[in-house]
Parts: sequence; C-alpha cells; structure tokens
Amino acid sequence: MFGRRPAARRALVDTKPNWLHRGLAVLAVSALGVGVAGSVALTGSAQSSSATPATAQPSVVTDVVPGVKVPDAFDARSTSVTRGNARPPVAAATAAGRLSAHAAEAEASAAESAASSGEQVADPQAIEARAEALAATASSIEKQDDTLVAKRKKAIAAAKARATKGCVPVVGGYTIAARFGDVGAWARYHTGFDFSAPIGTGLRAPTAGVVMNAGPGPASGWAGNYVVIKQADGTQVLMAHMSRVSVEVGQKVSPCDSVGAVGQTGRAFGPHMHFEVYPKGIEPGDVYKAVDPLPWLTKMHIKP
Ligand SMILES: [Zn+2]
Repeated sequence: MFGRRPAARRALVDTKPNWLHRGLAVLAVSALGVGVAGSVALTGSAQSSSATPATAQPSVVTDVVPGVKVPDAFDARSTSVTRGNARPPVAAATAAGRLSAHAAEAEASAAESAASSGEQVADPQAIEARAEALAATASSIEKQDDTLVAKRKKAIAAAKARATKGCVPVVGGYTIAARFGDVGAWARYHTGFDFSAPIGTGLRAPTAGVVMNAGPGPASGWAGNYVVIKQADGTQVLMAHMSRVSVEVGQKVSPCDSVGAVGQTGRAFGPHMHFEVYPKGIEPGDVYKAVDPLPWLTKMHIKP
C-alpha cells in the first residue's frame, strides 16, 4: 500500500524525460533507417501530446512490420527524397515544439527565481530609494569628514596659540615690585621682574616646555627654590624664591600648569617671585646674561 504512492509519483516525474528520450529515439531511428512503422508509432504517440497537429500517417502505417511491403505513399516519398530529409518536417516540428516549450519553461523559471531572489532589485522605486539612502550616507560621511578637518585645523591652531600664548605666572593678584634694569638694592641692576604676592600664592608655568630645574639648584645661593622651564626654541625662564615646587626635572608642562607657590627662599627682601628670561645657550642663573623679560612677555601675550 505505502509503496505505491512513491512509484506513482516517480512515473509522473519521469514523464518529461521519457518524451525527450522518445523524441531522440525518433531521430535516431529515422536516421538509421530502421523500423519505419515503429518510428512513426513513436512519433505519433509523442505528437499526440504536443502542440503540433498530428499527421494522418500513424493510422496508415500502424500495422506495417519490417519486411512487409511498404505502402505506395512511402515509396513515393522514398524515391523523390532521402528518408533523412523526408523526416525533418515532423521531427523538426516536434523538436522545435519541445525546444520552445523548454525555452518558455526556462524563461518562466528565471522570472520566478528573479522574483523570489530580489523583488527590490526589480522595483524601480526601491532602487531609487536605495540610491537616495546611499547619497544621504555619502553626504553624511562628507560632512563628518569636513567636521574632522575643521576640528584638526582648530587643534593645530590651538597648539600654535599655546606655543606663542603664555600664561600670567601668578594666580590671582600681584604687583610688579621691580622691573628689569632697576637699580637700588641689587649689586648692579635688577635682572628680571618681581611679581610681589603673599607666600603660598599659586605659581603657573608661563609657557610650554620642559622643566630643567625644580627646587634647589646651582643658583639656589640667591634664587632659593626655583623652577626653570626650557621652551622648544631654547629660551629658558627662571622663577625664583619659591616656597613650594610641584614639578619635577624633565617634566613637560603646558602654559598655566601649576608649578608651585610664591615664597621668600634665597636672597629676598620680601615674598615675591623673581622672574628671569635667558636666551638660548645661556645657563640659567648666570644673572647678568639674562635679558629684559618684557619683550618676551609681550611676545607671549603676557601683560605683567
Ligand atoms: Zn627680583
């Protein structure tokens, strides 16, 4: 009972291939010139289900067997043309019918697979929508790129500004108690600027650079605890008499970074931060080689 269904199904499935085989057999048989009746019978059976109208031949030749006298109708044909040439009208018709049927089938299956694999691809509106989405994405990326370029430019400008824009070294209020070149309490003249402020007042790096001295050093005899910062261009600034130092030698600092506090260490007559500027190549502490800090402060946009 259960075995029948698959068999029946197989028979259905096998229908088409059998047709094809039969068609091929017709061609082969007629080409070999064997069994006219058999070939016609096969052709007839094949034609019965094809679109091509059947000829009257099958009814005429069904009883013909090899060796039996061939009817006049066949004789006439065989004498005027070869059998191979006489057959094609029928064979070609059925073959063409099958080919066109196959072509239609292939077309249908292609259309079906196209429809199932990507309806959106075939839909012009979907394509347009997708193109618009892509364009929007591209535009967004372009904008982001512009933003990044702008940010980078800004960062570079800020870095340049930092390199040339200094920071007032004293947090909060102060007074300039003495300027460069002042004479009076000093051996020859005053070698820097005195920022007068209470002890403990915060001190900041006036420029970006590397800390060369932090606390006691070669100039401590007069400078007490002092900080030296070397700029990239080789200029060094010195901050003297500090009560507290919060940086270390070798440390990189940016403008306004905290470096310590105002004091009265070393030779000082009151709480203040003595500030000096040394050109490139001059050892800080060699006080009479220090230059007037004012041009440097002005260049760094620091108003003392
Ligand atoms: Zn001073």
